[in-house]
Amino acid sequence: MVEHAQHTPGQRATRPPYPTDAPFAAIEAGGTKWVCALGDASGQLFARHRFPTRSPQETLAEAVAWLRGAADAHGMPQALGMASFGPLELAPAAPYYGRLLRTPKPDWSGSDLLAPFRAAFPALRLALDTDVNAAALAEAEAFARQEGRTPRSLVYLTVGTGIGGGVVVEGRPLHGLLHPELGHLHPRRHADDLDAGGTPFAGICPYHGDCLEGLASGPALHARLGHGLDAAAPDHTIWAVQADYLGQCCAQIALALSPERIVIGGGVMQQARLFPLLRARTRHWLGGYLDRAQADDGIDAWIVPPALGQDSGLRGALRLATMAAR
Ligand code: ADP
Ligand code: ZN
Repeated sequence: MVEHAQHTPGQRATRPPYPTDAPFAAIEAGGTKWVCALGDASGQLFARHRFPTRSPQETLAEAVAWLRGAADAHGMPQALGMASFGPLELAPAAPYYGRLLRTPKPDWSGSDLLAPFRAAFPALRLALDTDVNAAALAEAEAFARQEGRTPRSLVYLTVGTGIGGGVVVEGRPLHGLLHPELGHLHPRRHADDLDAGGTPFAGICPYHGDCLEGLASGPALHARLGHGLDAAAPDHTIWAVQADYLGQCCAQIALALSPERIVIGGGVMQQARLFPLLRARTRHWLGGYLDRAQADDGIDAWIVPPALGQDSGLRGALRLATMAAR
């Protein structure tokens, strides 16, 4: 809120807390690394700082210290947007608003992501969402720049250490009971997905075993192969298995959320040959049911890598900040 100047004689005029060209702050809070940056209203990022995720106390302290230095150098930000791994409490009225919920990541369950910033910068507006909802927000803006209109529904999936999915509907990240958790849908099991003993691979999700994250995340691939997907021969069955699970996921997402675009990022998707393979499996599982070019001949433009490359999450965090400052 901008305070209005009171020009009472003998008193100092109350200045607005920031000049209108003040920057915005963005943080992408990941399980392995955090990236902090400043940016402007047009989405340009500058002054980036990247560091490995340690304990919650150490990690948050480093982010606060960086923000203090950045504010001294470039001006106090108008707002901070945070895009974090989850699951997160995002209901503003909830007593645990801003905290991580139960997570298998050691020490992080219950951590308050906002309190350290609130304590250090009491006037700073804060906005928080999941990393994937934020990435979906940034990719929806990229869609709007390309197509000249806002997508009605867009999904962002990441396939990396875990699998997560964010959803933006009519320009707003989807929240509800919690927030979307698309990585824990259960695919139908592929007949060739066997472990070394010839029994179906059990999957590695601590909650579900063989949910999508348990079967198709980076660690799930390593558990079966003993190495990364990049080192698997092109004719290894793992490619077909992985593509099938991701294709099932896209088909189910298409049926449930009717996205105008499905963007898939994350470390595993650096293996670009997965895209044509998983698009073919998406078409297989949709069975010709969705009467849209996107789900048929136009699928190459429907299921795509991120337009913003590695920056979707951070750009989304910046967008959260500019939305919060409005
Ligand atoms: P995050 O840790 O936030 O998910 P990334 O999206 O960059 O970060 O994904 C990195 C993870 O992706 C790695 O921890 C690894 O599990 C997985 N990964 C990356 N490349 C491969 C690969 N070729 N094969 C299997 N897993 C991979
Ligand atoms: Zn799961």
